[in-house]
Amino acid sequence: MIRVEGLTKRYGNFVAVDNIDLHVPKGSIFGFLGPNGAGKTTTLRIIAGIMRPTKGRITLGGDDVVDNPMAAKRRLGFIPDRPFVYEKLTGAEFLRFVAALYQQDGEIVERRIDELLDVFELTPWKNELVESYSHGMRQKLIISSALIHRPEVIVVDEPMVGLDPKAARLLKDIFRQFVDRGGTVLMSTHTLEVAEAMCERIAIIQQGKIVAQGTMEELRQQTAAGDASLEDLFLKLTGGPVMRELVAVLDG
Ligand code: ATP
Repeated sequence: MIRVEGLTKRYGNFVAVDNIDLHVPKGSIFGFLGPNGAGKTTTLRIIAGIMRPTKGRITLGGDDVVDNPMAAKRRLGFIPDRPFVYEKLTGAEFLRFVAALYQQDGEIVERRIDELLDVFELTPWKNELVESYSHGMRQKLIISSALIHRPEVIVVDEPMVGLDPKAARLLKDIFRQFVDRGGTVLMSTHTLEVAEAMCERIAIIQQGKIVAQGTMEELRQQTAAGDASLEDLFLKLTGGPVMRELVAVLDG
């Protein structure tokens, strides 16, 4: 469903993403992992069509994100890591506004708004201004806005940040139901237990390069890691700090 071929992104002379390939099959949850500054957000923003690649080709369901952005975006719900919400709209108005961007309105949208607000337990705040929402409530509203036009693909940057345990569980269930109905999810996360539990396939990016990609089993084979956990694999592939170094820092 999502194909990324030879994607490179430079900021000036700095290569943030370096000739990467990704394939996210339809009907699956794909985890995109990597240390801070590895290039995850840059990659996801390019896939979502809000930043242009320096080089490479990205397609969503066969539609090229650069050459055919409207068709690609219609398929997509994007949940950014630092979402923008209009503070002076109510929750319902914000969802109506996003639906209108996809040329959707009327009774179907109103029903959908009520369903989404109900699922995320935001109904009591439906007609309150977004400026009065807590961080978690905003996150729930953003997730609702990504689902309002019934996308085929969800691209999500750090979905669990700011959600309480109940909402985090709800989101996991929503993603699972979404893929069970043929949807596709690409998500970046630092929560390795979430990735291990939820994702059929995983890619690990470091300094702009993919260092491993596949199922957990394939990752273990690629790294000759026996029955290692994803945390062990991640640290092995990305070089976590050695305990000796940590102790030296603490002992000063
Ligand atoms: P994190 O886990 O910390 O969110 P990330 O994997 O999402 O990191 P990116 O935000 O994609 O990383 O950044 C990748 C690299 O590109 C970093 O070195 C960052 O400093 C750099 N970078 C990102 N955006 C810009 C920009 N607009 N201009 C210059 N450099 C940038």
